[in-house]
Amino acid sequence: MRRLLVLGGGTAGTMIVNKLRRRLPAREWDITVVDRDDEHRYQPGYQVDGRTCRPAEA
Ligand SMILES: Cc1cc2nc3c(=O)[nH]c(=O)nc-3n(C[C@H](O)[C@H](O)[C@H](O)COP(=O)(O)OP(=O)(O)OC[C@H]3O[C@@H](n4cnc5c(N)ncnc54)[C@H](O)[C@@H]3O)c2cc1C
Repeated sequence: MRRLLVLGGGTAGTMIVNKLRRRLPAREWDITVVDRDDEHRYQPGYQVDGRTCRPAEA
């Protein structure tokens, strides 16, 4: 079993692991992501939310 360690599960970390997981067979490659946070929020989405979110209809 080969091991790949990715430091940082932010934009770059999650994107590259998402791509590599599809290319590297799970039976051959063990991928570990290390991050201080348990979740990643896609920061560019913050701007979109601010412009498009509206109050729910009553
Ligand atoms: C409001 C906003 C809007 C944006 N809009 C755009 C846009 O429209 N287009 C664009 O191209 N870019 C945009 N950006 C910038 C873009 O989000 C960043 O350039 C991108 O997230 C950088 O990716 P990264 O993987 O290098 O870092 P990050 O996504 O910040 O990931 C770094 C990760 O490393 C972890 N980490 C850091 N230090 C440690 C440590 N000591 N121990 C453990 N974990 C650690 C963090 O928790 C984090 O998960 C925007 C940013 C913001 C804040």
